[in-house]
Amino acid sequence: MQIDLKNLNIENTHEHFKNGDFTVRELVDEYLKVIKEKNPTINAYLEIYKDIDEQVEKAQEMFKNGKATILTGIPIALKDIILFEGHIASASSKILENYTATYDSFVVEKLKKQGVVFLGRTNMDEFAMGSSTQTSAYGVTKNPYDLTRVPGGSSGGSAAALASDMALASLGTETCGSVREPASFCGLVGLRTTYGSISRSGIIPMGSSLDQVGPFGKNVNDVEILFNAMTGYDPKDSTSIKDDMRLIKKESIKKRIGVPREFLSGEGIDKEVLKNFEESCDKLKKAGYEVVDVDLPSIKYSLAVYYIIMPAEVSSNLARFDGIRYGLSEKEQNLLDVYKKSRGKGFGKEARRRILLGTYILSHGYYDAYYNTALKVRKIIKDELFEMFKSFDAFITPTVPFPAFKLGEKMEDPISMYLSDIFSAPANLADIPSISIPSGKTESGLPLGLQFTAPFLREDILFIIGKDFEKLV
Ligand code: GLN
Repeated sequence: MQIDLKNLNIENTHEHFKNGDFTVRELVDEYLKVIKEKNPTINAYLEIYKDIDEQVEKAQEMFKNGKATILTGIPIALKDIILFEGHIASASSKILENYTATYDSFVVEKLKKQGVVFLGRTNMDEFAMGSSTQTSAYGVTKNPYDLTRVPGGSSGGSAAALASDMALASLGTETCGSVREPASFCGLVGLRTTYGSISRSGIIPMGSSLDQVGPFGKNVNDVEILFNAMTGYDPKDSTSIKDDMRLIKKESIKKRIGVPREFLSGEGIDKEVLKNFEESCDKLKKAGYEVVDVDLPSIKYSLAVYYIIMPAEVSSNLARFDGIRYGLSEKEQNLLDVYKKSRGKGFGKEARRRILLGTYILSHGYYDAYYNTALKVRKIIKDELFEMFKSFDAFITPTVPFPAFKLGEKMEDPISMYLSDIFSAPANLADIPSISIPSGKTESGLPLGLQFTAPFLREDILFIIGKDFEKLV
């Protein structure tokens, strides 16, 4: 049978495998063909793994032995920050250029057991710092919808790979929007998962109190399948949620969605984005949802709080790259010079900016004024959302205030780049799940996304509402 990659999703691919319409080998070969054709232009992948044949054989074996699951043989792209034993994971940084993972991350281990086929590792902003995949040490990734524009970031390679049929699904990570934002720019579904729901073991850290792995899919169902396959307690991550805590009562949904109106009234939100947002609200109303304005006075501080807590965590996390323990090492006469030369050469501009900012924020004279104050406001934001969720299933905003911007744009103006994250930040600060779902296109054909954010561990709400919304677009 002729394989039509555009119309494949995880569920129907599994059916095709079972019916013998095509084999895992045939499907993977089809993807490799597209990669060969498109990747030189789009630069979504930094590397195609050399052991694909073995992975394919293992998956086919599982089908033969009746051990196949819904994910067996599904070709997936991995963000270059997720450890896969024996393969390079560089966080798209020069400092880790030749770093080979010595163990599997929790997510890779789980998916490997199901016989997923990992196709390769994808480009990203260096150490996941950015909203456009332009801070990578290995070149920019282009948006498949418009090659003059960014795919979003930091997981832009994973989004671009999926959006251009170079994978059937992909994984990214989120510290603040890095899955949802590229999903929105590339017309995909992207999920930021509850903090602690998926183990961070084997994920190169950025901001440890904010980081989570998140799946990209062509539809909500694919994202749900991947989430279910990756979630679970892991003793190797001290912040992983224990099984008994996961048993919280899953009440049925209220069909009530909040709109934080004040949050949407700021400057800098694109007119087409706002129009699309209002239309999306109307669609939800027509589908029987109550969509009402909510008062969340503190969430407007989320971005400022994030850009204090995150660099503080970045500066301490990246201290391990000292030219001695991992990656790039410059041989010098004295230790201080080894540090200075290795770090100076290994880190790009954005990483250095954040290390400096974070070090300043945590310095003796300032940590109370900045870091401790930010932690207090984080708690206020969390409490405010907790209260709101007593009467609402979720709240909605656009995912990003604007559609995909031009390559090169915002690179010289970090503050305007940071504004991309304005709607992403509340979920990461409050440890809660949030999903971006395609909500239509601009007049010039650029994808837009609607973002739903739900209470702690209530991904199930996002999947229910998301599937409803998907049908309305
Ligand atoms: N845009 C965010 C930042 O630059 C993305 C972080 C992330 O989610 N990895 O910090």
